[in-house]
Amino acid sequence: MAQQDDHFKKVISHAKEYGYIFGSSEIYDGLSAVYDYGQNGVELKKNIREYWWKSMVQMNQNIVGLDAAIFMHPTTWKASGHVDAFSDPLIDNKDSKKRYRADVLVEDYAEKLNQKAEKEIAKAAKRFGESFDRAQYEATNPRVMGYREKQKSATARLAQYLTQEDLPAVKALIEELGIGCPESGSKNWTDVRQFNLMFGTKLGASAETATDLYLRPETAQGIFVNYLNVQKTGRMKIPFGIAQTGKAFRNEIVARQFIFRMREFEQMEMQFFVRPGEEMKWYEHWKETRLKWHKSLGLGEENYRFHDHEKLAHYANAATDIEFNFPFGFKELEGIHSRTDFDLKAHEEHSGKKLQFFDPELNKSYVPYVVETSIGLDRMFLAVFSASLQDEELENGTSRVVLKLPAILAPVKAAILPLVKKDGLPEVAQKIIDDLKYDYRVAYDEKDAVGRRYRRQDAAGTPLCITVDHDTLEDNMVTVRDRDTMEQQRVLITDLPDILNKKVNFRHWIA
Ligand code: ATP
Repeated sequence: MAQQDDHFKKVISHAKEYGYIFGSSEIYDGLSAVYDYGQNGVELKKNIREYWWKSMVQMNQNIVGLDAAIFMHPTTWKASGHVDAFSDPLIDNKDSKKRYRADVLVEDYAEKLNQKAEKEIAKAAKRFGESFDRAQYEATNPRVMGYREKQKSATARLAQYLTQEDLPAVKALIEELGIGCPESGSKNWTDVRQFNLMFGTKLGASAETATDLYLRPETAQGIFVNYLNVQKTGRMKIPFGIAQTGKAFRNEIVARQFIFRMREFEQMEMQFFVRPGEEMKWYEHWKETRLKWHKSLGLGEENYRFHDHEKLAHYANAATDIEFNFPFGFKELEGIHSRTDFDLKAHEEHSGKKLQFFDPELNKSYVPYVVETSIGLDRMFLAVFSASLQDEELENGTSRVVLKLPAILAPVKAAILPLVKKDGLPEVAQKIIDDLKYDYRVAYDEKDAVGRRYRRQDAAGTPLCITVDHDTLEDNMVTVRDRDTMEQQRVLITDLPDILNKKVNFRHWIA
């Protein structure tokens, strides 16, 4: 655990030191759970997005892209269930200044009573031995009955007050039960407020005419409301998919763990529209396809696992997460959901427009079912970055920090290094850059001894270093050093485009 924490700390500081991720508006002490991507971060993020986009859109004839606006008609979020159901009841402790979910406080209290009852039962079971009748004991022992009654009454009352949206009653319940702040024990609570995770804003110039809007909490709804536009104008036949990448916003109550849980983040989602009844086949297909995509990056097959949901969201008939072994353990990286026709039907109802597809093969119209794949770009960034950052012991007893990013995702593909800053070597290096820059992002570095420059590029994640030395002037050859193997090879300058192409060609990675 300590080792994990240690690695996570290194990830955060390395991301800053090498221009990958900065805290937002740092000069003003930052903004909680909001981050900025630096000069290398923006490239890595773009490359991950492109790797996803190419494999989803470019590689599939029946998947097309979309870029819907972040602002959507407010009824969208009524139909999707976000206005009514995308919220948590919040309470603050005035002394400790800690914020909690009120429902979780009561549930934890009830769970403690349950544990007390179980403890009593276990003690009795030990006392009575074989002759112990658990059911009878539970039904007759006054202490156990007392715990159970309190437990039941607390959860039942909580459920009732939440259903009635009676938040003062929830607070009164917390006070009546004597629930204290888990950190400080203080019982000095604020009122309970319903906290919708959507950020609200206003559209329009004057206060009277302004419309209340939300920043989208997911990109999916932009796809649902456009699905017929795309289907008709693109003459798409079912099954077909629509892919989209873009920002989503959630006012997360407890946002920790760096870019794992942010308030402003980017999603990469694909909604796949299928015939009703065929959704499980496609659900299995996308499970397998997405896992293969992750594994293609070579970050270690043991770092992925599926977590099938037992408790399904109201709109889903099957759901799984692809979990990744983050520095703090296995956590959701991507969700794959069979969403049935829930969203399209809800939009039909709220808009009064038909959202049916006419299937020429079946000669009938229906509302398609949807299988979605939904991954957070920032979470993917964290997965790639944390798995790539390694401390390596070398044979000569020294060590190096190396960021073994998959070459196809690396911000800079090669660094061109003149051995010395004179004798015409910088000019040759510049010529190499001028040739390669049309196809690859390459960097120039002339400061410090070449060994130090190698280490710097290792830590920044650059897959290749290309060194120009005095012999280059004679033989037009350079030394190419590989970040991962540290092997060096003497090659012709004219062979460089080929060498780079082999390293970062999409075909080699995805096939
Ligand atoms: P979690 O349970 O972690 O809150 P979720 O189940 O609410 O996630 P979805 O609504 O399924 O997430 O969103 C799809 C993907 O979007 C997630 O798998 C995750 O990668 C990403 N994601 C969701 N919330 C955040 C966030 N606050 N910050 C960064 N990425 C997020």
